[in-house]
Amino acid sequence: MTERFTGSFTQQEPIPEEGIAAALAVLRHGRLHRYNTAPGEIAETALLEEEFAALTGAKYCLAVASGGYALGCALRAVGLRAGEPVLTNAFTLAPVPGAIAAAGGRPVFVEVTEDLVLDFAHLEAQARATGARILMLSHMRGHLCDMEALMALCARLGLQVIEDCAHTMGAAWKGVASGRHGLVACYSTQTYKHMNSGEGGFLISDDAGVMARAIVLSGSYMLYSRHRAAPPAEAFEAIRLETPNVSGRMDNLRAAILRPQIATLAGRVARWAALYHEMEAGLAATPGLRLIPRPDEESFVGSSFQFSLPGWSDARIAAFLARTGARGVELKWFGADQPVAFTSRYDHWTYAAPEPLPQTDRVLKGLIDMRLPLTFSPADVAQIARIVRAEVLAVGQAEEAALAGEAAALRLAD
Ligand SMILES: *Cc1c(COP(=O)(O)O)cnc(C)c1O
Repeated sequence: MTERFTGSFTQQEPIPEEGIAAALAVLRHGRLHRYNTAPGEIAETALLEEEFAALTGAKYCLAVASGGYALGCALRAVGLRAGEPVLTNAFTLAPVPGAIAAAGGRPVFVEVTEDLVLDFAHLEAQARATGARILMLSHMRGHLCDMEALMALCARLGLQVIEDCAHTMGAAWKGVASGRHGLVACYSTQTYKHMNSGEGGFLISDDAGVMARAIVLSGSYMLYSRHRAAPPAEAFEAIRLETPNVSGRMDNLRAAILRPQIATLAGRVARWAALYHEMEAGLAATPGLRLIPRPDEESFVGSSFQFSLPGWSDARIAAFLARTGARGVELKWFGADQPVAFTSRYDHWTYAAPEPLPQTDRVLKGLIDMRLPLTFSPADVAQIARIVRAEVLAVGQAEEAALAGEAAALRLAD
């Protein structure tokens, strides 16, 4: 009897009832636009920004239309110049190099290590070779590099850091919230991230000039005084006329859906940790499968799980994916030559004219990924781990049998 998993890797939890009620109230009064307020009313969006700033400990917060928008807005707010190089991880998601290109920059990719974080030696080499001033650091799939060492290196190289925290909302390095090391940090509240408003995002910063520019860029017109988690009026005086409007505001409907999710984030992070550790335990000591080590300094959000099949041939990985797929376990493979459903490989982003990066190629070749939505129970995760483990072993045995057969045939031919 072979067991089959029947759950969905893409099914998230429902919006909390409190969020549904708040959303209905916004729909009933009709003031969805964040600057459309009744006398004395504080918009849901302004309250959300205040609450997200408090959650992260940042001075300022701006809610926007998407995570990708937040990244582009951050680049413009820190003063990206046309054609300027922007360093970023070679293993990230398409919105990251996309935001750099859309803001007029030139993505320059930096190698990643087999633990899926930025390679500091290559970062230094690329920074020196290009003279870049900006690093857009992507905490891809929630893996944090040594943030203290990175910030020291960036200070030495004169690099300003914009953090892409799409997968690290709720995470921390040595107790410092992810997003609190760089000059600006960007988050996504798209359905597959750690808060769900369909689409949406945040920028946080302690820098008054950067945040004033971000607010005007996002389409505040001259209504920025209605923001609460915002710098004082003087910060806007200096920049309000020279900063273009690139509309990408959040609306009160999404903000209403998100506000109750702030208080539940810590509880959800704890449930993700339980699922992650269940998967890690289920896959431990599987011959041929490498788990990604997680440093003690990192408190991560286990909303997805990665492992690698180092040294496996494409054919062997394809056979493994076909077998797990047939048993209801949909895995993603970052090593496929052609992008399937998503892209996370630098060499697929040809508009950025990427240079070959042999180390990243090797890492991605054997890298497998899956989501762990909170609709999974620990028992579901244990079952998925049993299936993955069994199929890793089965493919290995099939290959050994084939090799033994070849060896026997060779002996006969002798
Ligand atoms: C999802 C994601 C983004 C952008 O988020 P959107 O809200 O979809 O624009 C940026 N970076 C990474 C790594 C992501 O996974």
